[in-house]
This record gives sequence, C-alpha cells and structure tokens, in this order.
Amino acid sequence: MNILVFLESDGSVKKSSLEALAYAHKTAEALGGGAITAVIAGPTTTDLGSLGGYGVQKVLHADDGAFVQVDIMTSAAVLKQAIAISNPDLVVLAKSSLVDAMAPRVAAATGAALATNVVDLPVLNNGVLTVKRSIYTGKAFSDVALNATLRILTVKKGAATGFEPNSATTIVESLSVSLSGSDKALTSKGTEKATGEILLPEADLVVSGGRGLKGPENWGLITDLAKTLGAATACSKPVSDLDWRPHHEHVGQTGIKVSPSLYIAAGISGAIQHVAGISSSKCIVAINSDPEAPIFKVADYGIVGDVFKILPALNQALK
Ligand SMILES: Cc1cc2nc3c(=O)[nH]c(=O)nc-3n(C[C@H](O)[C@H](O)[C@H](O)COP(=O)(O)OP(=O)(O)OC[C@H]3O[C@@H](n4cnc5c(N)ncnc54)[C@H](O)[C@@H]3O)c2cc1C
Repeated sequence: MNILVFLESDGSVKKSSLEALAYAHKTAEALGGGAITAVIAGPTTTDLGSLGGYGVQKVLHADDGAFVQVDIMTSAAVLKQAIAISNPDLVVLAKSSLVDAMAPRVAAATGAALATNVVDLPVLNNGVLTVKRSIYTGKAFSDVALNATLRILTVKKGAATGFEPNSATTIVESLSVSLSGSDKALTSKGTEKATGEILLPEADLVVSGGRGLKGPENWGLITDLAKTLGAATACSKPVSDLDWRPHHEHVGQTGIKVSPSLYIAAGISGAIQHVAGISSSKCIVAINSDPEAPIFKVADYGIVGDVFKILPALNQALK
C-alpha cells in the first residue's frame, strides 16, 4: 500500500505531523509494506531529509515564492498535486483545523473516500480498508469501510503510539504547483502569535481552569503550575466568554478537543459540554471544592478542596 503523508509546519514540522508519519509507517508495516512519500508546503526549519527515519522514501517540498502564505486553499492545491504525482492508495493527515477544512476539499476533487477523526491503525480485508473513527465528540466509535481506491484519513493524536524514528535520511524534491485564482482567494493580512508557549491542541500536559478560579486576576495559579510542568493552559467556555482568557484556550464541545497524557481541571464543574473536549485524555485530575461536582465522575484522580490552597501547594511540591 503506497502512502502519502501531508505535513504541516509551524516553523518546523508539527509534532502531530510526525505522529502522522509514525501512523503511516505502522500502517505500511501492518499491511505488508509499500512506499511512504511526504509532502509539505512552505518554508520550514526542519531538516526534511531526516524524515527518512520514519521510513519516508521521498519528501516533496512546495517551497517557491507562492507558498509564503500557507492556507486551506493553497494546502489543498499542494496535496492534490502530490496525489497526482505519487499516485497513493492512502493519504494520511494529522487532524487540525487546517486539515479539517482542506481534507474534504481534496476528497471531493479526487473522488477519494474520506474518514476523519481516525483513532487506530486501519485493517485491510479482501482489499477493503476499514478504520475506527471517533464520533459524537468522542462519546462513541464507528468502524467504516472505505470503498474507493484512493482513501484519505485524518488521524487523531494517539492513533499510533510507540514509534521511534531511526537515523536514516531520505531525498527531498521540490514540488512545483501552479495555483489557480480560487486557490489564492484568501490573502493573509498579518499574523499574531497566540498566548501560551505550548500549543493547546498538541499539548501532552494541560492545566485548565474554570469559573472556580473567580476571576482573571487569579490566573497566575494556572499559568505558574503550567510553567512548572511544561504544560499548555486551557479553560472552560464561560471563562473565555467572560474574557478572563482568550477564546482559543476554551476546551469542549464548542472549543478545542484535547487528548493529553494529563489534564488538570481546576475549579471546573465537568459539564457534559466540557467533558466532550477532554474525554480522550489519558489521565484527568480534578480539583473542586464540591465533592458532588460531575468532573469527579470522569476524573482518574480527584482532590476535593479549594483551588486557592491546592494549586500553590501542588506547584510548590512539583518544584
Ligand atoms: C450548546 C452549549 C455548548 C457548550 N460548550 C461548552 C464547551 O465547549 N466548553 C465548556 O467548558 N463549556 C461549554 N458549555 C457550557 C457548559 O454547559 C458549562 O456551563 C461550563 O462548562 C461550566 O464552566 P465551569 O465549570 O468553569 O463553571 P461552573 O459550572 O460555574 O463551575 C465552577 C466549578 O468550580 C467549583 N469551585 C468554585 N469555587 C472553587 C474553589 N475555590 N476551589 C475549587 N473549586 C471551586 C465549583 O464547585 C464548580 O464545580 C456549553 C453549553 C452549551 C449550552
């Protein structure tokens, strides 16, 4: 099975894209081999040759002047061109807001079968590829068969674990893509770095606060603990609605879905809409003064207590 992996770069190749490469490697291994090609648009500081360590045979790099701005339309154009050149059986992309928007466009344009939110390696039976998808904001799983010769998967964090790249290198070829008028429909007028040094959707550790923190003036308790742990910060929806924290930190059904190894929920009640965004976390630690708070039903560890006492004590102990 020949696999094409689309890589995203936020300066360097994103960690989630490296996980997509690991997913492709494990898939090729499980399904009896095949070539892995990677494609990336725009400048990156990553040494693309080093991606050979993931079993990549070739990296296609679209990096002429047209890709100073990488967005949904230009990324979709690059992926379509890479599909035309490498003729894959399977395309793998790490789920992200860019990928959520571009993958359906590419599937529609190429006639591919698209499965989103894939959580496990695919299974091949009599030529039909089946994958497990997370559905209903993580409350259920669905097994779907992809009835087309070209299949596109957007994979969630954690879909392939336990892979370490080796020191092999690979060839990097430049990919020439001519953009049509509609591919250039958007023009970026400037970018602003989001607060927080660690990107929430990719974070392995998350410290999150709710209305129990009482106000933005107390957020140092969350950011200090996050700093000690090397974690990203997050919040419940009302906290961002109240402008205590920026909207891109809001986790839940209507916000970011996270799947970290550790999610610390401080002063968060655990409403179903919040839990929808954190249910695939490996370990949830809840700190809440109300022993009946619903968050304790989904928490692996619970501390019944006052965040204003627990958070500084926890931070001190961790330090
Ligand atoms: C359509 C829809 C979509 C929604 N989407 C989302 C979403 O995506 N994400 C989301 O988060 N919410 C969402 N909500 C809102 C959700 O229903 C809850 O209202 C919200 O999650 C509650 O936020 P909270 O836990 O911070 O606040 P609260 O419900 O007010 O809970 C605060 C908690 O802090 C505890 N507390 C208070 N003081 C202390 C203290 N000193 N020490 C320790 N604990 C303390 C309290 O016991 C309480 O459990 C949505 C709602 C709707 C209707």
